[in-house]
Amino acid sequence: MKFDAIVVGGSYAGMSAALQLARARRRIAVVDAGLRRNRFADTSHGFLGRDGYAPQAIAEEAKAQLLAYPNVHWLADTAVAASKRADDHFIVTTSSVILNSMRLVLATGVVDELPAIEGLAQRWGKSVFHCPYCHGYELNCGRIGVLATGPMSVHHAMMLPDWGSVTLFLNGAFEPDEAQNQRLEERGVAIESMPVMKLTGVATVEVADGRKLEMDGLFTMGTTRMASPIAGQLGCMFDDGPTGPYLRRDELMATTVPGVFACGDAARMFGNVAISVGDGAMTGACAHRSMIAGL
Ligand code: FAD
Ligand code: MG
Repeated sequence: MKFDAIVVGGSYAGMSAALQLARARRRIAVVDAGLRRNRFADTSHGFLGRDGYAPQAIAEEAKAQLLAYPNVHWLADTAVAASKRADDHFIVTTSSVILNSMRLVLATGVVDELPAIEGLAQRWGKSVFHCPYCHGYELNCGRIGVLATGPMSVHHAMMLPDWGSVTLFLNGAFEPDEAQNQRLEERGVAIESMPVMKLTGVATVEVADGRKLEMDGLFTMGTTRMASPIAGQLGCMFDDGPTGPYLRRDELMATTVPGVFACGDAARMFGNVAISVGDGAMTGACAHRSMIAGL
């Protein structure tokens, strides 16, 4: 099957890129495995016009609007391999078909690697989060734990007092220096040095000496990795962000491999739904523009 552009990853960033390309009357394929990063959360916050909607509802409405364009071909599938041919066309192999295009947009997102603490993974997106802007407000100024994963966790602990009363669980991840301790104290952050054993209840933190510290929510900064190996297969270059690698792009959203564009969490240090939608819109327009010789 031949297309002008193939978008790999049909979530907020990818669909937004596809929408611009579709409206430019290009023939587009979107390949999407359906594993959005926020699928663990019941509600999505902070996206203007859709604040408090279910993440899936936002995606489904967007998909219905996108599929109203007859030039969009949707494949609910995983792209398993991608390569560039000598004639500069791309070949994308999914688990069922082989696709061919002039341009490729990678919107494959990232996967969160969570701290290996008993009870944490099943609370991810429910009472354990990473983004205060997304889920801080709903904690109603309650008891907030910050589970440290490294020195970056100081930022979490310094920010979160705007959303509630904060306990920083060091859990052996790092030791704040004197200046940090002073600033944390000024922000009213309690520091707990006992190792964390497990999470129970809503977000109760059970520590090594047997105490159970009841929290209304817990924030932690895990690491991230690319959700798909495709960018690596194509030879795209990466930069290192505070939580993990992300795709290097120029100011026109092009990766280091000519013809390959990228958007969303896979291509930025930090992301959310609003940013992914904006980023995708820009990337779709840039990918379209690049197909017009002489521009
Ligand atoms: P994603 O939404 O992660 O989508 C990537 C898509 O690409 C997926 O559908 C995936 O299956 C697909 N894909 C990957 N590889 C392939 C492949 N090889 N072939 C086919 N398809 C592939 N942001 C907010 O703004 N508000 C919130 O309230 C909020 N809450 C969050 C809660 C949690 C628990 C988490 C983890 C994140 C939250 N976020 C929130 C952040 C938000 O989820 C991301 O910023 C956003 O999903 C990024 O969009 P994206 O399109 O770049 O990637
Ligand atoms: Mg996407």
